[in-house]
Amino acid sequence: MKQGNNSGQIRVLDQATVNKIAAGEVVERPASVVKELVENSIDAGAQGIRIDLMASKNEITSISVTDNGTGMGREDALLAFTPHATSKIGEISDLDTVRTLGFRGEALASIAAVARVTLVTRPRDNDLATGTRIVIAGGEVRENSAVGAPGGTSVLVEDLFFNTPARKKFQKSRATELSHVIGILEGIILAHPDIAFRLTYNGTEQVVTGRNATRLDTIARIYGADTARDLVPVSATAPLVAINGHISRPSLSRKDRDRIFLSINGRYVSSPAITNAIKEGYGTLLPKDRFPVAFLALEIDTNLVDVNVHPTKKLVRISREPEIAGVVREAVRKTLSGHDLIPDIRPIAAPRPIVADTPATMAALSHSNSYQFPVTKPPAVSEPTHTGVTDSDRRLRQTELAPGPAPAATLPPLRVIGEFGGIYILATTASGELLIIDQHAAHERILYELAGQQDGSGKRVQELITPVILHRTPRESAVLSELLPSLRNEGFQIEEFGKDTFLVRTVPIILGKLEDTSLLEDIISDLVSPDRGERVDNRERITRIVACRGAIKAGTVCTPEQCKRVADQLRLTKNPFTCPHGRPTIIRFTREQLDGMFKRS
Ligand code: ADP
Ligand code: MG
Repeated sequence: MKQGNNSGQIRVLDQATVNKIAAGEVVERPASVVKELVENSIDAGAQGIRIDLMASKNEITSISVTDNGTGMGREDALLAFTPHATSKIGEISDLDTVRTLGFRGEALASIAAVARVTLVTRPRDNDLATGTRIVIAGGEVRENSAVGAPGGTSVLVEDLFFNTPARKKFQKSRATELSHVIGILEGIILAHPDIAFRLTYNGTEQVVTGRNATRLDTIARIYGADTARDLVPVSATAPLVAINGHISRPSLSRKDRDRIFLSINGRYVSSPAITNAIKEGYGTLLPKDRFPVAFLALEIDTNLVDVNVHPTKKLVRISREPEIAGVVREAVRKTLSGHDLIPDIRPIAAPRPIVADTPATMAALSHSNSYQFPVTKPPAVSEPTHTGVTDSDRRLRQTELAPGPAPAATLPPLRVIGEFGGIYILATTASGELLIIDQHAAHERILYELAGQQDGSGKRVQELITPVILHRTPRESAVLSELLPSLRNEGFQIEEFGKDTFLVRTVPIILGKLEDTSLLEDIISDLVSPDRGERVDNRERITRIVACRGAIKAGTVCTPEQCKRVADQLRLTKNPFTCPHGRPTIIRFTREQLDGMFKRS
């Protein structure tokens, strides 16, 4: 635009234009409409909310939300469409204590500015009142009449973005928009297990939840009973926050954070800090690129939560966020350390999308996305070899867990009944379950926890009878030199000994007698090779490498005595269920499951 010096270029925009611009912030896509309407229904005290979506081949054509909430009288119904008209706050200080989902008074005005809206409402508590029907399109009132109507409110939105072609062009495929709608609805429904929801899509029912359901019921309704079964309850109260909800056992994980749901004071929100805290609470129970399924409801003093930082209020600002995140992390960690986390084996169920639509996008919505564990081919060893036995013996001898307060064993007593393929230990429990233990992963976990118990005082360090000399390339030497202080803390006393040469004087006692120095070579090679983006500190990295290299190898057949040793030691670890990289150590079959597989029932 040309800039002149003539005055009179600045104009105050007319209200219709202002509303359209404001609508751009609040109403980005059909999912935003669903969110605003459903939140209004919740704010109106609805006990039942029904959402009906209609779609053509290419797009969502109408959205209707009907509730049995307070409803509105004649005057309020029209006022509701005026920008900044709200019944929820009166003055700015109310923002500190607001508990309703809305308060900006923008949603209805914004939606009506860019669509055709039909509102039918009647006050719930006044049987004599007549209902009101208002039709507004592009901000203009087309109809305002008295009608008979049930108590409550129903809002129908059609022709979304008919007068904002640019916005309309930005809409993605029907399937994508639908998945956004469903994502938001899932969050809202999970945050309000007390309300009955019913969702239909092109006339077919998709989700129905009952009133006053438990959150677990609601989860089962949306994601299926299998998911619900893999969850454990979390509950914690601290001065700053009360936490309630469910998190998955490590056997149920996903490649993204999409199924971590949070509500803060009843508002479904996203918070990267809290989401990370949940993941951190899993520690080594999950691989670094896998995420749990979690549904957590947080109650935080409203003074500490600023909900007015984002037009759609999806993101909130939390004061003292690091402390609150810390409470969440600890709650998750504590919950997991006290639970039986052995994954149950179930016949693989077909994905069950909550809205059946084009397979590609909707498959992403399905719940059966649990981690597929990599299959390793069994090596061709079948009998214990002499060197194998002595090697395993040596490795196992050093790993008696320190005497001390016996940790609450989360595993029942095990009876080893055999081994399989030099990789797995077979065991049973008193309750008649069959357990299959990955011997390497299990021993790795045992060593990892032992190494973690070291206090760096040198107590669990052993001196080598003859120091071992290591030669490395210049690049590796540079890396190793940097690591020497951290290595020393973990029990490796290593000194530089001329150019690119090192002298190893001590190693952690858990590495055994170290008759075979190739173990040391392997550990140092792992250490100096570039780490694969693992964001862990040196101590953690060294501990993991020592545990992995020091553990009995997959493919070495263990004697019955050795198998028993691994099983017994595993029971005493704090986290017997996964190796330090988050892979499972044990899987379990119950009698019923086996009977089912053999069609015995
Ligand atoms: P906000 O929710 O921020 O107050 P909205 O534009 O979403 O703003 O709604 C404006 C007002 O309309 C609300 O404050 C409320 O009084 C009324 N309202 C909207 N939807 C409903 C509903 N489903 N039932 C009862 N009242 C409603
Ligand atoms: Mg609102």
